[in-house]
Amino acid sequence: EENEGYPTEDNIVDPRAEIKALRRERRKKTKTPKEVAALKKEEISRKRKAHKIHVQGSDIPTPVETFEELAQQFSIKEELIKNIQTRGYEVPTPIQMQAIPLMLKKREILACAPTGSGKTAAFLVPIIHCLGAPQKKGFRAVIVSPTRELANQTHRECVKLTEGIGLRCHVIDNVGKATQKFGPKSSQRFDILITTPNRLVFLLSQEPPAISLKNVEWLIVDESDKLFEEGRQGFRDQLGAIYRACDSNQIRRAFFSATFAFDVQEWCKLNLDNVVMLTVGQ
Ligand code: ADP
Repeated sequence: EENEGYPTEDNIVDPRAEIKALRRERRKKTKTPKEVAALKKEEISRKRKAHKIHVQGSDIPTPVETFEELAQQFSIKEELIKNIQTRGYEVPTPIQMQAIPLMLKKREILACAPTGSGKTAAFLVPIIHCLGAPQKKGFRAVIVSPTRELANQTHRECVKLTEGIGLRCHVIDNVGKATQKFGPKSSQRFDILITTPNRLVFLLSQEPPAISLKNVEWLIVDESDKLFEEGRQGFRDQLGAIYRACDSNQIRRAFFSATFAFDVQEWCKLNLDNVVMLTVGQ
């Protein structure tokens, strides 16, 4: 106790180190909000560059590099994260890193990434999160695919990612059967619909319409470059018919594509709300 206040080997401080630390501290404290924002912007663009993510649009969230970070930032349900792990997905692919946070923020997007880059989970994960618990009020998400094969493949992924969550997904692969199923009551059993535009427009064109899209919150157009291709001129009209059947006050739309096709870009720029366009690769 006699020694109190005197330097000992334990409490001796190198004055130079102390000054340096003080300076560092002061420098940290004196950052203006503008500087902080600039640093953050730098960090975001470093992340995008590392994963070859290119974006166009305003107010775009940071790419999320791990599923843990994603779960934390957006309070993703444990079951959904578990299903992602069960699928064997350890880290998000670049398109998932950017598209998932955008969709969780309810932004309308055009997302382009090569075949095999994980676009299916890039839209399924955010819509499954956004839909939350099953509500028995009919389809709340519709995924439009160019072919029946792709629709079936997406359906299989959707079944796996919704396991234990209670959301029910349905794929329409036969018009006759589908019409029977979509009496007003039976369609309420499902939350997510996966279909081709032809089948969907056929059901909508019945008198009265054989399907209701009134409660749809998310409309996903998968492989939109294929759907907009020449020789499929009718797709714009089909898209119009589908959109009109939805409630425009609550619908959010996301377009996915393997290429950055000019027609799709132009359509999205013109029609989507405050669109964000993102590309991965190149
Ligand atoms: P795309 O729609 O872009 O052509 P898919 O969604 O079909 O690609 O995904 C291609 C493959 O990658 C699928 O087998 C899918 O299960 C797998 N996959 C998707 N996301 C991940 C991930 N984060 N980590 C590992 N594999 C993934």
